[in-house]
Amino acid sequence: MITSFQCIYKDENSLKKFIKENDLDLFPSLLVQAFTGHSSIDFITSLQKEVAASLPRATLIGCSSNGQIFEGRVLSEVILTFTAFEKTELNSFLVDGGHQGKMDGEQLYDELIRYDTKAVILLVSHLKMDIPGILQGVSPRNDEFKIVGGVCADDPANRPSIVFTGDEISQSGLAAVSLNHSDLHVHSYALEHWQEVGPSFEITKSEGNVIYKINDKKPLHVLERYLGKSFVKELPDSSIEFPFLYQHGNEKTAVYVINILPQGAIEVSREMDEGDRVNFGFVNVQELLESTAKQLNKLKRSPVETHYVFNCIARKRYIRDFTTQELAKLNEISAVTGFFSYGEFGYDSSNKPKLIAHSMTYLGISEEVREPLQDFKPEFHLAPEANAMMTLTNLINTASSDIRELTQNIEVSEEYYRSLFDNNTDFVYSTDLKGRFTSLNPSFIKTFGYSESELIGRNALNYIMHVDRQRVRRHFYRAMDGREQYYDLPISTKDGRINHFQIKNIPITVNGQCVGIFGIGKDVTQQRQSEKKITQLAYFDGDTDLPNKQKFREIIDEHIQRAKKKKRELAVLFMDIDRFKIINDTLGHRAGDLVIKELAGRLGGALPKGAYLGRFSGDKFTVLLSKNVNEESISSLTDAILKTIKEPFSYNGKDFYMTVSIGVGIFPRDGDKSSEVLRNADAALNHAKSRGGNNTVYFSRDMNEETLRKVEMEAQLRKAIAKNDLYIAYQPIIDVPNETLIGCEALLRWEHEEMGSVSPAEFIPLAEEAGLIQELGKWVLTGACEQLKTWMDTRLGKFYVSVNVSAIQFQHPAFVSDVKEALKVSGLPPEYLCLELTETIMLHDESYSVEVMRELSQLGIKLAIDDFGTGYSSLSYLKHLPIDILKIDRSFVRNMSDHSPDVAIVQSVSMMGRGLNLKVVAEGVETTQQLKLLKGLGCDYAQGFLIEKPMPPCKMGEFLMKQDLAAVQGS
Ligand code: C2E
Ligand code: CA
Ligand code: CA
Repeated sequence: MITSFQCIYKDENSLKKFIKENDLDLFPSLLVQAFTGHSSIDFITSLQKEVAASLPRATLIGCSSNGQIFEGRVLSEVILTFTAFEKTELNSFLVDGGHQGKMDGEQLYDELIRYDTKAVILLVSHLKMDIPGILQGVSPRNDEFKIVGGVCADDPANRPSIVFTGDEISQSGLAAVSLNHSDLHVHSYALEHWQEVGPSFEITKSEGNVIYKINDKKPLHVLERYLGKSFVKELPDSSIEFPFLYQHGNEKTAVYVINILPQGAIEVSREMDEGDRVNFGFVNVQELLESTAKQLNKLKRSPVETHYVFNCIARKRYIRDFTTQELAKLNEISAVTGFFSYGEFGYDSSNKPKLIAHSMTYLGISEEVREPLQDFKPEFHLAPEANAMMTLTNLINTASSDIRELTQNIEVSEEYYRSLFDNNTDFVYSTDLKGRFTSLNPSFIKTFGYSESELIGRNALNYIMHVDRQRVRRHFYRAMDGREQYYDLPISTKDGRINHFQIKNIPITVNGQCVGIFGIGKDVTQQRQSEKKITQLAYFDGDTDLPNKQKFREIIDEHIQRAKKKKRELAVLFMDIDRFKIINDTLGHRAGDLVIKELAGRLGGALPKGAYLGRFSGDKFTVLLSKNVNEESISSLTDAILKTIKEPFSYNGKDFYMTVSIGVGIFPRDGDKSSEVLRNADAALNHAKSRGGNNTVYFSRDMNEETLRKVEMEAQLRKAIAKNDLYIAYQPIIDVPNETLIGCEALLRWEHEEMGSVSPAEFIPLAEEAGLIQELGKWVLTGACEQLKTWMDTRLGKFYVSVNVSAIQFQHPAFVSDVKEALKVSGLPPEYLCLELTETIMLHDESYSVEVMRELSQLGIKLAIDDFGTGYSSLSYLKHLPIDILKIDRSFVRNMSDHSPDVAIVQSVSMMGRGLNLKVVAEGVETTQQLKLLKGLGCDYAQGFLIEKPMPPCKMGEFLMKQDLAAVQGS
């Protein structure tokens, strides 16, 4: 059984008396613990002597302290506690660490620990000692024993703390005693309940136990800022209440500020590394209360015979009510003794001893098992102040966790932002309000090859081209104004490669104020290149690189805008190569392309300043004259163009000549929109064409109406062809002397549902211009041949059909084969087909025309010259041509009267025809008188309304039947 005695020391005599009264000198194993408050060395030395004299067999251990526990109460007097054991044996030992505070834990172990050690009480002189080293040395290996105890509190009078045993004393060391017996029951606990308060700090500069910088700031300033000046004044006690909490793994360790050093550095209770993170810590009263009640409940079930308590001084300062009640409750169980310390020894989660704080280390011991306590109540009834304290703690706790959560949220959003910043493939940078770089993302560094340190603090404008600076500055100011900016910018990399970027500038706004600019840049080099390519394709002609129709319209539009403001004129020229289609058709497209290219070059060379050339389509070019527009400048330009085209083009070693037609439209006279001016210039061009080409025509109003009608007709004609609204009429041609049918002329008819019958004189030129004539001519040719074949097959007489051939149709390389095809398809023998040609075919390539005529003639086909007398050909000229028939133009026949010169003309033509072995046809015979005259003049054949008007096939059929009948009747 363990018996406990406690006394308040007064003097040597009263001590002696106390020993005597309690027969303490009779106990064989007696532990004397002396907690001396802030006593002097002299006092302790004399106390050692007094105890040794009265109790020579007792084991003494003690230390200076800051609050001593006597029968469960906190006193300031010197307290002596006597624990008398029946079985337990004691070993005590003192180690002096010298100035360094270095101690050998191993030595301590060897002196103290036995196989049956159950507990060790450790008293350490001060926090500067190598406490982790000591604990490491003493800590249990295989054996099971508890370490309890604490660090002596500092003396406010700055006298060093003292530890001592029976005959030794140290101001920088430790005193220890081990309790040894296998029957000794030990109950021990150390309660430490921390909560973190406030933000987390990083140790940014430290060496050993000294911290120079926290968050790059002086630690002293951090302490003053967060805990106040009084905290600093009351160090180190205040730091026992509010230590730093150092979190490592799952462990939280309290780190005390022991001393303020020069320049705001601090000395702390353990070594700290740079990068370690700490918080301020504060006891969690609620948790502490719950844990303590749990321990007291355990003690209620198995009470001990005595207890020692090593209580943190912080507990008597601001949870004094709780601390007092706790001690009183323990005292109800059995006698309590102990002292208030600066640090206590407890255990970490892996059961290794460590220095803890804000706690009470408790050791309950008994040699015999006691009965459970019946009436003991472990609950606490705290005073209102304590509750206020709890409330405050709770508030701090919650506020701290709110702050932590907030910080965490900030950290999360910072991280979000960071990943947006760091992982963005676009480059991102920020500048201050002066345009100096403040941050760059990795993509920025990768893109431009500069390092971060090269750029931070430098003005961003230094890194772009001179010409762009003004513009970029403007965007910068607008962004500062709160307007998002987008712009393109070429930027050079460090090694000089220039790429194109699309930049976005947005303001960085903090509390409603712009503090800088964010820039985000995307490399659009490829994109811009392909855009350029697309523009080139969409706006420029691939063969000549000239602006196309679209682009040219835009160019005109732009100039019209400007010309409007400056009240200036513009001239638009439309040019079309005469007979270009033939070049394409005869020499092939490749030659056509080459000619166009050469042409573009020549035209370009002929332009004055301020003129633009474009290729509108095929062989149609346009010129815009934008400067000094007047009649003179236009005509000198058209002259220059006509002249440069006149030079021969050569292809495959052969020279050939070309001419061009030009139409001119003038802004604003001929329209104030690009479309209008262009349309009118085009109309003028058509006019130039219809005049035979190789000339220039200026637009005039009435031309436009004509052109409009033409355009409309052209569309209608295309429709008519598609809808088969065309048919062939036939007009008989008779033999004059005996007035019998000798042939008929096939004349194309267009029955328009609205316009009625449209004259071929009107629509044939249209079809020529529209490139429809070849198709249309072929259709007539085949139709006429087939029709005649049908009539022949039904034995409606033997006569030829005369088909009109347009000059353009005739020039077409496929013409001869078209004729052959028509004959073949219809089965008509060639001698029944006559082709009516006009003199204009000779205007084109003459030798080619003659060659084609020969070829046709050789096929056995008849050839006629139509409208003879209106052209330029002389009679002698006709000698060389393979012609069978001459058709005297209607105008001669019409004006024929007894004494007009036309009679002479008709007569001489008839004569000459006979001389050349040609048949002569008089066209447009309308009166019997005319017919009579013709007979007299020796004209062979006649055709005209007198005989019959052109008739649709069925009517012609009827006519033929009548003829047949007459012939039968006549014979
Ligand atoms: P063209 O070759 O001189 O045809 C004769 C024109 O004179 C026809 O006019 C005919 O109707 C008209 N005519 C005949 N007898 C008389 C008469 O006694 N008095 C008057 N005043 N006129 C008479 P149409 O049919 O209007 O044809 C006009 C022109 O259109 C033709 O003149 C011809 O050059 C052309 N043409 C007609 N059909 C075709 C065709 O299939 N191909 C081509 N290339 N041209 C055609
Ligand atoms: Ca004719
Ligand atoms: Ca004619």
